[in-house]
Amino acid sequence: MYKEYKRFTGIATPFYYYDLDLLRDTLDTLNREAGKYNYKVHYALKANADSQVLQIIRDAGLGADCVSGNEVQKSLNIGFPAKDIYYAGVGKTDDEIRTGLAGNIGCFNCESVQEITVMNQIASDMNMVAKIALRINPDINSNTHSYITTGIQENKFGIQLWELDEVLSVIRQLKNINLIGLHFHIGSQIIRLEIFRKLCLKVNEINDWFIERKYFLPVLNLGGGLGIDYHDPDSNPVPDFRNYFKTVYDTLLPQPWQEIHFELGRSVVGQMGSLISKVLYIKNGKTKNFAIMDSGMTELIRPALYHSFHKIVNLYKSNLNGTFLPYLKYDVVGPVCETTDFLGKEVELPRTERGDLFAICSVGAYGQSMASNYNLRERAGVTYSDDLSG
Ligand SMILES: *Cc1c(COP(=O)(O)O)cnc(C)c1O
Repeated sequence: MYKEYKRFTGIATPFYYYDLDLLRDTLDTLNREAGKYNYKVHYALKANADSQVLQIIRDAGLGADCVSGNEVQKSLNIGFPAKDIYYAGVGKTDDEIRTGLAGNIGCFNCESVQEITVMNQIASDMNMVAKIALRINPDINSNTHSYITTGIQENKFGIQLWELDEVLSVIRQLKNINLIGLHFHIGSQIIRLEIFRKLCLKVNEINDWFIERKYFLPVLNLGGGLGIDYHDPDSNPVPDFRNYFKTVYDTLLPQPWQEIHFELGRSVVGQMGSLISKVLYIKNGKTKNFAIMDSGMTELIRPALYHSFHKIVNLYKSNLNGTFLPYLKYDVVGPVCETTDFLGKEVELPRTERGDLFAICSVGAYGQSMASNYNLRERAGVTYSDDLSG
């Protein structure tokens, strides 16, 4: 893509560039590897809910994993089969629960006794039965950034192991709740497959616990969280789905009648997106150089929020066929009035000038979907590879 920046001529910056061929390649690999074990994958919409992206994911046969009523509604509108729409979230409102029930979705992943009780009441009023899975907090540290760890006791997510007896005794009384599965999601951007192995060992124990109590639940949902290579996206454009699923297959001990589900977000869409942005100004300080961009935390908040790394390329200067340009270190920063508004720190780049075009790589997940209008900035547009000529 970097060699083809000329295709971007005339497009107003900043914009998200989505390489839909890479998305299709990623989905092909994902389907091939998951297919080996009959695993079912739901795509986590919150990573990127762009309609064109969603249509391609729907056509590839994935289900939808939602965390709000609007995501449920969007999945229905895009045409994901209702039975393949799952709805998780620690704070579902009554209206959102109604949206899911009215849409006849496949499953609600429930996070507390009170939520289940409320859902039973709403389902009863609507004369329906809600299919639910229990989101269980397995108390496993995913060793990812503390802000994106979700599966340890001190997180707000999930039902704790010591609460399970009480939860089951409540569910037994509820006529409009049908418990169909167990759900786990322990964090995001997890690179070490050992973490997923630990999760599977824990799931084996918890699954046994339910079976001993005569709960024969058809669904084991291991959530998402598989990471991507932010440092070298060109060498690893497609995540290692093969070893991810193999790790689960080698460790998890499901019953023959149990389906295994996953909810992947980042690993499906992360690498297909780049943020294309123009250098507005260069400031050469005594100790630092700054490249001031026409995009920042409003288009990509991950660096400001989690100190995440994104590879940054100067599209005009990085491909000068053998011409040597001195490399300098730049803090690549945005125009927003916040000190945390940066895209990269100490980035080594060829000497950069006003007007140069940068690609901030690997922004397909949690880029556009976390964008804001802060400072009354306009939303950046999207350019799809399919629509570019040449
Ligand atoms: C965010 C989320 C996911 C997807 O996580 P990724 O790291 O993007 O794969 C899956 N399940 C739930 C419940 C989530 O909240």
